[in-house]
Amino acid sequence: MLALDGVCAGYSVVPVLKDVSLEVKAGQFVAIVGPNGAGKTTLFKTISGIVRPSAGKITFEGRDLTSVLPSERPHLGIAHVPEGRQVFPSLSVMENLEMGAFTEAGQRAFKRNLDLIFALMPVLADRRGQFAGTLSGGEQQMVAIGRGIASAPKLLMLDEPSMGLAPAIADFIFEKLIEIRQQTNLTILLVEQRVAEALESADHGYVLEAGRVVLDGSNATLRADDRVRQAYLGM
Ligand code: ATP
Repeated sequence: MLALDGVCAGYSVVPVLKDVSLEVKAGQFVAIVGPNGAGKTTLFKTISGIVRPSAGKITFEGRDLTSVLPSERPHLGIAHVPEGRQVFPSLSVMENLEMGAFTEAGQRAFKRNLDLIFALMPVLADRRGQFAGTLSGGEQQMVAIGRGIASAPKLLMLDEPSMGLAPAIADFIFEKLIEIRQQTNLTILLVEQRVAEALESADHGYVLEAGRVVLDGSNATLRADDRVRQAYLGM
């Protein structure tokens, strides 16, 4: 579904991604893990078009994304749930979800997706009239995920959904991602610093260090890898 081939990208004079190649197949749950500053967020921004690659190619469903504007990419089926949630604080939960449904596919499937979002995260149904800015961090993350689902994407990209959450709440969010995977045909691409949880949830992983993919494999392979165990799993 999504393929990056030799992608280099960064910010003016700061090169970040160096020759990154990766593939996400339809229906897969792929995790990108790595330390602070490895370039995970930059990778997502490059896929959504906010950052332009200086080399390499990104294709989505066989289509070269180079000439596709960032604003057009959600309409192709790419949803980016950004780091730090970024809900609209002075809009209600319901209005945030409606804002997510700005794509044609999202408009068409809104009723069905709303049922799905509320079934997955009932707290959002209970709080549908509450200003999103007054929700807890975990609830805001659920709004952000719901807003992504509301665009009726094919690929749901989640940038560190556990960031700033207490461990129990973060675990709850990971459970939700697994449920989303089971209940929909969504392809999920997750960026995470919580490596153990991310590799447990996903079926394939890439380790990004200093802008390069240094390792990739099935979740079982990565979890058994000595380097991953020592550097990321504290074993
Ligand atoms: P974290 O897990 O801490 O969010 P990350 O793996 O997502 O880290 P990025 O946010 O992609 O990493 O940052 C990669 C590098 O790019 C860092 O060295 C960062 O300082 C730099 N960087 C990020 N955004 C910008 C920017 N707008 N301008 C210049 N440099 C930037």
